[in-house]
Amino acid sequence: MRLVLVGPPGAGKGTQAAVIAAKIGVPAISTGDIFRANVGQETPLGLEAKQYMDAGQLVPDAVTNAMVADRLTHADVSIGFLLDGYPRNLDQADVLTQQLEAAHTPLDAVIEIVADTEHVLARLLSRGQGRADDTEEVIRHRLDVYASETAPLVGYYRERGVLRTVVGIGSVDEVTARILAVLPA
Ligand code: AMP
Repeated sequence: MRLVLVGPPGAGKGTQAAVIAAKIGVPAISTGDIFRANVGQETPLGLEAKQYMDAGQLVPDAVTNAMVADRLTHADVSIGFLLDGYPRNLDQADVLTQQLEAAHTPLDAVIEIVADTEHVLARLLSRGQGRADDTEEVIRHRLDVYASETAPLVGYYRERGVLRTVVGIGSVDEVTARILAVLPA
């Protein structure tokens, strides 16, 4: 099963990605987690990504696409994968579509987790200073970036017949159950 999770920051995407990936037995690939690990280890990739992450901006596509393309060549994705946080704009989506088409391994589904802005803002603010990019100013910017750059993916994947939408309000278990219910057999 090859899946993508899409949703605004604070919609519980990371939590659901880990739970769903474990349930269906595929690796969860979070570009945010990979970037944060590189920032922590002060790798060249991390040093480049940090300035964008701290500002709530997208890391440039060339850097991000190369990182994901490499990750998708690892042996563990032969059984499938769940991408969390990628693609984040239409250009990234096109690059991913082309890579998967070339490998004859198209996406099975794209799960959109819907949550309204007030809800996710409150949630992110309560997460507090756990992450360097969780200050109110940066959070608002990340929400703007989501609306302008990432939200168009919903139409992109709907046109391709793979979009599944679930409501992100409720307990972790409730949202997990909704996602499992819309996954293709
Ligand atoms: P996340 O953990 O998914 O909220 O990502 C945290 C930050 O990592 C984002 O605000 C971006 O700066 C960066 N990032 C994660 N995924 C991507 C992506 N697909 N394209 C560009 N930047 C990304």
